Amino acid sequence: MDCLFCKIINGDIPSKKVYEDDHVYAFHDISPMAPVHILIIPKKHIPSVMGITAEDKDLIGHLHLAIQHIAKEMNLDEEGFRVITNTGKNGQQTVFHLHYHIVGGRQLEWNM
Ligand code: AMP
Ligand code: ZN
Repeated sequence: MDCLFCKIINGDIPSKKVYEDDHVYAFHDISPMAPVHILIIPKKHIPSVMGITAEDKDLIGHLHLAIQHIAKEMNLDEEGFRVITNTGKNGQQTVFHLHYHIVGGRQLEWNM
């Protein structure tokens, strides 16, 4: 499949790995918007939040526990951070493999 993040998972495109287990992969965003900007993706190709099905419930729960683990590892848990998943055109999603941005390391604003 011609998917950038599937290629990152299988190593065809290099990435800076932060965390990996059987179900999820996390790596540094190539164009960080804050001191910490990590992307976490399921290894299963799901195009966006709208492609999640009931059979993915455990996977999505697992991914959120991995976010928690990464937040602690990156020392984001005390000061806080943001988890973002852009979806579709208005959400300005550019890569159509489900991903969650983990952004932190500075005070974030809320300005859309
Ligand atoms: P989105 O715009 O929400 O779909 O997010 C896609 C993200 O992928 C952007 O923040 C990009 O900077 C990031 N990105 C694109 N190509 C790469 C890459 N090769 N390695 C790491 N991050 C990437
Ligand atoms: Zn993919």
